[in-house]
Amino acid sequence: MTMEPLIYELSSPGRVGAVLPESDVPHTPLPEALLRKELPLPEVSQIDATRHFTRLSRLNMGIDTHMYPLGSCTMKYNPRINEDTARMAGFAAAHPLQEQDVSQGAMYVLYQLQQFLMEIAGMAGCTLQPAAGAHGEFTGVLMIRAYHRARGDHKRTKMLIPDSAHGTNPATCTMAGLKTVELPSDSRGNVDLEALKANLDDTVAGIMITNPNTLGMFEEHVEEVVRLVHAAGGLVYGDGANMNAMVGVCKPGELGFDVLHYNLHKTFSTPHGGGGPGSGPVVVSERLLPFLPGPIVVMRDSDDGDEDAPIYEFFTPPQSIGRMRAFHGNFGMHLRAYTYMRVHGEEGLRANTLNAVLNANYIQARLKGHYPLPVGASRHCMHEVVAQGKLADAPDIRALDIAKRLMDKGFHPPTNYFPLIVPESLMIEPTETESMQEMDRFVEAMLEIAQEARENPQLLKDAPHTAPMRRMDEVKAAKELVLCCKPY
Ligand SMILES: *Cc1c(COP(=O)(O)O)cnc(C)c1O
Repeated sequence: MTMEPLIYELSSPGRVGAVLPESDVPHTPLPEALLRKELPLPEVSQIDATRHFTRLSRLNMGIDTHMYPLGSCTMKYNPRINEDTARMAGFAAAHPLQEQDVSQGAMYVLYQLQQFLMEIAGMAGCTLQPAAGAHGEFTGVLMIRAYHRARGDHKRTKMLIPDSAHGTNPATCTMAGLKTVELPSDSRGNVDLEALKANLDDTVAGIMITNPNTLGMFEEHVEEVVRLVHAAGGLVYGDGANMNAMVGVCKPGELGFDVLHYNLHKTFSTPHGGGGPGSGPVVVSERLLPFLPGPIVVMRDSDDGDEDAPIYEFFTPPQSIGRMRAFHGNFGMHLRAYTYMRVHGEEGLRANTLNAVLNANYIQARLKGHYPLPVGASRHCMHEVVAQGKLADAPDIRALDIAKRLMDKGFHPPTNYFPLIVPESLMIEPTETESMQEMDRFVEAMLEIAQEARENPQLLKDAPHTAPMRRMDEVKAAKELVLCCKPY
């Protein structure tokens, strides 16, 4: 392949891609101290810039081009109607510092979204500020810490975390100054109850639990776990990354959870990763209400008592842990998630959940007998299925080889090597937005790869063959990050 020129190679002094209008404000010199002597930006025409970015976008595998079965990450389609709402001028041009009486439309959306998220989880309060799931975790754990401290209970510094948890859970606790204690899983993929009991004492701040867990399994003893932790004086944090298996069917609040984060960029179809900023709203039970980050949006009757024209106001709870983010979080994402919920309605959201679970079970059933399924061999999965990329008759083949070969066959690889407790794990989450035909194509590709692994393992070892770059040195890529194109 002839390499297409990089944007710096096309640069030529004086070339411009945009013509700015005449300034209609007085010219003001910029503060000298803030100016850089040199700013090596490429000087290119508009068509060069357009081609540069269009070409870059085609080097990627994304949800708009390929099935993207990245387990736990819920890479569902991002419906375009979400974009229409987010672009409406009244929202897009609103400034967070404008007066509340001219922000009532935006505040209505924030209020309604809070309400929907509280209803879906069965919780009593909501903050929309956190900018990602991990940020939501941090918010929730700080509230748990504040709750114990407010009661003068300073001994509680230990957080229990199952070994199937996402790495952000222990990282969050460490950032919040808590100690983490790892709980093993049993053979059915549940938290080991005996290990839980052995760790419960008056130093427990709480447990961080993911349900369904990252093995794709519903915690069979979740109510018992909640009861035991509460009896020991701890609180229950729910990692809601897997809410795509729960919405409209099961409410964590009714299971006794005290706090839960959502990932709007997973469950509620807002763009993910490079596609846009995240959003990790947090919902809480009654007892954590006073600690919510502020401000949140509350509703009251209008001054003339007109019930049909309520007023939306900002409110900061009395013992608030403070702000977690500037203004009100990623409002553009709130609009998209709100649109998604309004388009589907209660029945539609429930149908999406049921189809997400059905799709994952379809893939699990079709992979059975071809790939090892550590827990799924004996249980139905929820929204994702964890298989293993190791085959008895192809001993040199690893999950990574299978993942890379899938790219040649037109699929973004599933999550691999997570959860950590499953050797050579391939965690597959089709989501409800994949059709039967697409899932069949994916399964056929997986079966072909299993055959290639036996007959021509080198084909897998050398994969990907069709991607713009061959197999990466992933350690080097992580240690020597190069995130932007630089001039030579
Ligand atoms: C994605 C994920 C997180 C972290 O969410 P981010 O939005 O990526 O910060 C936490 N826990 C689980 C189980 C996840 O899948």
